[in-house]
Amino acid sequence: MSFIAPAGTPLRFADLAAGIGAGLFTNRASDDLLALLTRHSGQSRCWTVASGRAAMTVILRAMKAAGDPHRNEVIVPGYTCYSVPAAIERAGLKVRLCDIDPRTLSFNLQQLRGMNFDRVLAVVTANLYGIPNQLDAIESLAAERGVLMLDDAAQALGARCAGRAVGGFGDAGLYSFDKGKNITTMQGGAIVARAGALAAAIDKEQRALPAAAPLETLSYTIKLALYGALLRPALYGVVQRIPGLGLGRTIYETPTPMRRYSTSLAGLALRLARRLDAINAVRIGNAASLQSALATANGIRLPEISPDAQPVFARFPIFVRDAARRAELVSALNAAGIGATTSYPEALVNVPQVAPLLAGDAAQSGAIQVARTVVTLPTHGYSPADLGQRVRSIVDQVLGDRAPGK
Ligand SMILES: *Cc1c(COP(=O)(O)O)cnc(C)c1O
Repeated sequence: MSFIAPAGTPLRFADLAAGIGAGLFTNRASDDLLALLTRHSGQSRCWTVASGRAAMTVILRAMKAAGDPHRNEVIVPGYTCYSVPAAIERAGLKVRLCDIDPRTLSFNLQQLRGMNFDRVLAVVTANLYGIPNQLDAIESLAAERGVLMLDDAAQALGARCAGRAVGGFGDAGLYSFDKGKNITTMQGGAIVARAGALAAAIDKEQRALPAAAPLETLSYTIKLALYGALLRPALYGVVQRIPGLGLGRTIYETPTPMRRYSTSLAGLALRLARRLDAINAVRIGNAASLQSALATANGIRLPEISPDAQPVFARFPIFVRDAARRAELVSALNAAGIGATTSYPEALVNVPQVAPLLAGDAAQSGAIQVARTVVTLPTHGYSPADLGQRVRSIVDQVLGDRAPGK
């Protein structure tokens, strides 16, 4: 049976051949990628590394090295990718959780403003599903309290907020080229930062990383060729049944490739980044169809998007009233060949590996609510034109007689 993958970037064979080929013998494509991302982000420097996790670890280590030694806490949203606390741990820092607003997925600003910043080194954003957080407000607050800001745009390359690129707010930002992100080369990440002491520290950390391993690059190239073929719904339906591939699993820490980025993969990333607006336009269009098909549906709630935000919808999140109904809806969608997911299984406060990293606590009701109720829907280029109607009719069947989700 055909199955629409939860997320992905359609790849052309020409992208792979020309992209990887261009990066094989020279640094030219890699340098062009750095220039493109620097320009895009509005920051002044850019570095690439082997993953978003490595990018975050490098930035945090640099912040620790360049910052006040008494500050060892990093404020993160209560619901975000598990790689974020894992990178904080790797950088030898502590996690402070700030709750999120379940309507917008951005920080609960009232809670953030009330936190004690005495030992805080940095605040990290999330921009989940390509929806910008309230970056302006977070940036002003960080500046006012004298702490650094790391704008995590792992899912939001191309999104804008108040006219500026997501990833470009605050002192440093990151992008990811992992499988389910805005563009993909299987693995990879980029760091952007403004020039200054922090940039010098990032530069030092990044240079200290071992070079990309040619055998790993070869293996990613083969995986990319398979990925490009298998993302098509007719084939994805077959592969997603194969156990051991771990498609869509969320585990706390997968081995972090603490390396620099392959120049061959950078060649592919460059080709995709040059098409970024077109790739994102397809996802934005598909999200708009989902939004209009679901606007009047009973039993679900749609995300609130701030009027000054231009999301890129790596996925489209909706919210069901409780975990039991969510489970029913997701299994009905999956049974109909639609790659709906329940996203990260827990709020960070309920992730056992995060507990020993926590410094202090704050109520996490918004994050817990999102963890129990969120459903993500596909928006990528292999989503069929009638996806919105298909999702709507399943929502009506499963939840139709229920009151709207709160
Ligand atoms: C994916 C992701 C990361 C880590 O990126 P990888 O390239 O997968 O290591 C960090 N933050 C967020 C919000 C992510 O979605």
